Amino acid sequence: MRKFLIAGNWKMNCTPSEAALLLEGIKEKKGEVSEEVDVLVCPPFVSLSMAVNYLHETDIQVGAQNMHFESSGAYTGEISASMIAESGCNYVILGHSERREYFNEDDELINKKIGQAISNDLAPILCVGESLEQRKAGEQKMVVGKQIRAALEGINTDQVLNVVIAYEPIWAIGTGETATPEQAQQMHKFIRDLVSEIYDSDVATSLRILYGGSMKPANADELLSQPDVDGGLIGGASLDADSFTEIITIAEKLS
Ligand code: PEP
Repeated sequence: MRKFLIAGNWKMNCTPSEAALLLEGIKEKKGEVSEEVDVLVCPPFVSLSMAVNYLHETDIQVGAQNMHFESSGAYTGEISASMIAESGCNYVILGHSERREYFNEDDELINKKIGQAISNDLAPILCVGESLEQRKAGEQKMVVGKQIRAALEGINTDQVLNVVIAYEPIWAIGTGETATPEQAQQMHKFIRDLVSEIYDSDVATSLRILYGGSMKPANADELLSQPDVDGGLIGGASLDADSFTEIITIAEKLS
């Protein structure tokens, strides 16, 4: 059985002191997590080391929200995979729709980042998802399929075992609108079948596919109950210690 991964994407929220308070709340409520669930928080870069140190004796892991595709060099303001890894992180979110939209990240760039993350022992959380317009036109499978094929281009079977995919319909991110459990399951199954086609059924079976898009305590149970939903990438609700830890508890109960 796959292990759930409950990951919090804090986005550009929380100064270091605010981050410390949020971590304190999470640690107080959920410093110990069932072995059946992996928990991850992804604060802004400036709080990564602090979060790693603070969570050191808990079961909670720390990840970054982005990184550059080169290993080092003249890229003012950028952060490399090795910097993130040496800070004690295990994961990095890549290809989030906000980065695709506001920072013009395309599939080719995301593919380079995936390779760089894996080379530095960071597990990439590859975000994919369609816009509302694309969903209305019935293009969601075509769009997500193209994003996945392009992002995983040249990534071999051993390497892909480190990858987590997050299906995040753009129309459900930060909008309060959630995909129905059936819509989520349909897309997750499509993604698993696609990965089986690109690689093999063993890879597809062990691949973790997270749902992201307004997941909260009120809808986590029905989403996480779907057979191909292996966890959640949580934005807004991860900024509230009660909500985030409640979702972890729901995942623990379903394990
Ligand atoms: C996200 O940003 O990955 C996300 C899913 O956000 P929210 O939960 O706020 O919709």
